[in-house]
Amino acid sequence: MSSTNPRPRRTGAPADAWADAVLALLGLVLPVTCPGCGAPDRAVCLPCRDALDAEPLRRRLVAGVRLDAAFAYRDTVRALVLELKLRGRTDLVPVLAPRFGALVDRALADVPGALLVRVPPSRTGARRRGFDPVVLLLRRARAARQRSCRAPRGALRRDRRPGRRTAGPHSSGTPAAHGQKGRTALERVEATVGTLRAAHVAGRDVVVVDDVVTTGVTMAEAVRAVRAAGGRVVRCVALAEVEE
Ligand SMILES: [Zn+2]
Repeated sequence: MSSTNPRPRRTGAPADAWADAVLALLGLVLPVTCPGCGAPDRAVCLPCRDALDAEPLRRRLVAGVRLDAAFAYRDTVRALVLELKLRGRTDLVPVLAPRFGALVDRALADVPGALLVRVPPSRTGARRRGFDPVVLLLRRARAARQRSCRAPRGALRRDRRPGRRTAGPHSSGTPAAHGQKGRTALERVEATVGTLRAAHVAGRDVVVVDDVVTTGVTMAEAVRAVRAAGGRVVRCVALAEVEE
């Protein structure tokens, strides 16, 4: 028996070592660049990470409720979120998760007994992605782990009302047929009110979470739906929000 081939030493994280090796091999055929600056890197380069860490937390009001956001939705953050949501770059989750998870945990600590309710993603977006970025972020951050904060399934869902959504294939002249961008603020609000419905939240304090808050119309609709179902929204938390 020769001793020239010793067993490989066990490292602390063999799974990580394997993941590194696979990623290194993939990198040969699928070059990965930092979405923040384009530098060749596996995920986000160090200078871009440092820039993210230096970003101030965001706070504003949505429907009279305090919204905490981990980042402003612009520049590097916007690039990262789009890569994650549109191209499935789940390797970016560890970069974005800690601050978001900390905000969620702080909200739940501030209001003991609160339920955590996620704004449901659009059906097409969820189907296309096959994953929920908010769930991935919370899981990675090990946030919202107490069983008591988990809302029952369907606590907040999209309400498909035949009368309001299906205006018909030939009604392209109506406001409902245009994208959000072509609408006035009032049209956006009118088109959104009644699109969400809450359940199982009566008498409960609720923390509402979403990934990106832009106009705030969807988050405001979530607040309205929870209130309509007898719940009290005590905090909204987002990964990123668009500066007004
Ligand atoms: Zn970079």
